[in-house]
Amino acid sequence: MAKAVRMISTDGTLYILAVNSADIVEKARRIHKLYPVTTAALGRLLTGASMMGAVLKGKDDSLTLRINGGGPAGSLIAVSDSFGNVKGYAENPDVQIPHDSNGNLDVGTAVGTNGTLAVMKDLGMKEPYSGQVPIISGEIANEITSYYALSEQTPTVCALGVKVDRHNRSVSTAGGFMIQLLPTALDDTIDKVEQCLKYTKPVTEMLSEGKTPEEICRIVLSAFELELLDEFEPEYRCDCSKERVTRALLTLNKDELANMADDEQTEVCCHFCEKKYYFTPDEIRALAGI
Ligand code: ZN
Repeated sequence: MAKAVRMISTDGTLYILAVNSADIVEKARRIHKLYPVTTAALGRLLTGASMMGAVLKGKDDSLTLRINGGGPAGSLIAVSDSFGNVKGYAENPDVQIPHDSNGNLDVGTAVGTNGTLAVMKDLGMKEPYSGQVPIISGEIANEITSYYALSEQTPTVCALGVKVDRHNRSVSTAGGFMIQLLPTALDDTIDKVEQCLKYTKPVTEMLSEGKTPEEICRIVLSAFELELLDEFEPEYRCDCSKERVTRALLTLNKDELANMADDEQTEVCCHFCEKKYYFTPDEIRALAGI
């Protein structure tokens, strides 16, 4: 089970979230048969989406991240609810590219740098809120920081990391943290945060040392006194059903449906969990009204 915490500084100037998302990323890897670099790329996006979802206000709110930088991984999608539960997929799961100059999985190259990160928030209004920012490095955490700065005017620090076992390709560590300044932040709050971050180890290193999300928050913001707001256990979770798939089919036009009804059976596969749904020609004809 993934573990996450949300904490607030006792001076009320900022809050911080941290998540150990190894179980979520490993489940995504297995479902989508992701290669190591796409495991790292989609894993970071899912981890970021989980934390961004967890700061949504309404319990029925949800959020979708889509990043496409023209790299070999294609579009990467992650959807989160307000409890941090996520699902996602990569357009091209089987990317094979050389490691970067430090010998790490080269997420930036897999994602590419020519494109945007788009954020769509469904807050229960008529129209979903959406914003997008240009990709900076393709490393995903930078893009999330930039989204909050440009689209929401909320100073944010985001760090994400995924380590994949070189031998069996499973996820060894995955997680992240996100710091957001509150409107009550003081002039020196940002300087204090920057000072703290100078000495922060990569999040995967802290996780591999066995640090819990709460310990990570306290290590990262050592100059602040922190209070625990809540703990939660986000999951990789898909909420698809035959009813939802049927609704998606209804967006097709009559001719497309009529063509499908010629097949003995129509198979529709969920992008997020690879579950298959089957429709008979009679069911398809009923949808098309023919
Ligand atoms: Zn599904």
